[in-house]
Amino acid sequence: MRKPIIAGNWKMHMTVDEAKAFVQEVDGLVPSADQVDTVICAPFTHLSTLTELVQERPIAIGAQNMYFEEQGAFTGEISPVMLSSLGVTYVILGHSERRQYFNETDELVNAKAKAAHQHKLIPIICVGENLEEREKDETKEVVQKQLIGALQGLSSAEASASVIAYEPVWAIGTGKSSTAEDAGDVISFIRSIVEDQYDQQVASAVRIQYGGSVKPENIAEYMAHPDIDGALVGGASLKPTSFLQLLEGR
Ligand code: PGA
Repeated sequence: MRKPIIAGNWKMHMTVDEAKAFVQEVDGLVPSADQVDTVICAPFTHLSTLTELVQERPIAIGAQNMYFEEQGAFTGEISPVMLSSLGVTYVILGHSERRQYFNETDELVNAKAKAAHQHKLIPIICVGENLEEREKDETKEVVQKQLIGALQGLSSAEASASVIAYEPVWAIGTGKSSTAEDAGDVISFIRSIVEDQYDQQVASAVRIQYGGSVKPENIAEYMAHPDIDGALVGGASLKPTSFLQLLEGR
């Protein structure tokens, strides 16, 4: 059975002091790591403090992006080596905000996914259609293209160990969440693409999250779907009480 994975995506929110206070507040209240993988994806500037703070605790730390090169003249970028040397476990790749505002392509997401695995980081690979694509009934086409692009050249072991997040862009930060049934449909479709690209074993191992206006009140509906293994949560992950309720509601 796949272990649920609930990840908070803090985006560009919180100071380091606020992040410390957050961890202190949830300390001792996070379910054990054999029940659920609990992840906080924080800004780069917070990662060093956070990885130290969560030592011996059932919380893993993720980054929200990275570059694919190990080092070099790439002003302003952060490498996988830098992240793994801090004890970071996960890295979100290809978030729709990266695709939209920073022109990330499927090819770039793919290069980053390969680099993540080379450095023992677990990529959370985001895919999802925008409103226009949804209205034109192109959801599956878009998601399929993004997914095949991102997985290109990953081994079966790497694909199995990856996390995929289905995040319809129109549902992110809008309060308009996809219904559990619609999200479940697309997520089952994603699992079938993984099976096409690899095999049944990989498809049944890979964990797929839903993201887009997930909150304590609706998380259980998503988690009830057999193909949905967790959630990638923005807004509702920023307050300790709400984050804990998400973990409870899984
Ligand atoms: P949201 O963001 O939960 O605020 O909609 C989700 C995400 O962008 O990962």
